[in-house]
Amino acid sequence: MDDRYHKLKQIRDEVLALKTSPLYQYRLKQGYYPVIGQGNHRAKLILIGEAPGAEEAKTGRPFIGQSGKILDKLLDFVHILRSDIYITNIVKDRPPGNRAPTSQEINIYSPFISRQIEIIKPDIVATLGRISMDWFWAKYGQGPLGGISQIHGQKYDLNINLNPTILVPLYHPAVALYDQSKFAAMQVDFKKLADLFLPKQITNNS
Ligand code: URA
Repeated sequence: MDDRYHKLKQIRDEVLALKTSPLYQYRLKQGYYPVIGQGNHRAKLILIGEAPGAEEAKTGRPFIGQSGKILDKLLDFVHILRSDIYITNIVKDRPPGNRAPTSQEINIYSPFISRQIEIIKPDIVATLGRISMDWFWAKYGQGPLGGISQIHGQKYDLNINLNPTILVPLYHPAVALYDQSKFAAMQVDFKKLADLFLPKQITNNS
């Protein structure tokens, strides 16, 4: 196993033992797992969601519930394989109910997602939803960024520890569960993402 595997496993071990998290006791009580991330440790593309839902916390795997089904449809539409990318969340434990994570929770888990990005060194980061986009931009962006309904599907060139990295902010897949009319726009955004990602993927594999 390579260095990335060990560094990512270290993150998993630290999150498992994260007693300072307000979500730790809830995880134990429910018999849930933290959701660290899944996919290729050498991925050129990382997708970052918000926090696990119930299905994810029962299995420890990201985006396998209703939002995950929408995400799978979008990935299939543009021929991106889950096994070629890495999928994770900002917050690794499920907040109770379906509430959004608090800023305190985001701050507690923030070092883990930063480390994952720094270990995997993706060429492209696609944030899923406003919470993920706001976190990412506050950490790595510069200047103001518009709301998600204005900037979804656009491309922002950034540097993360001197690595050129493209940010593509996307709608959260759950948006299509509440507003089916957004699905077509989401397909357009995923097509743009694939146009950036697939050529890098081919170069990587050749
Ligand atoms: N929503 C998220 O943001 N992440 C998941 O893993 C599942 C649902």
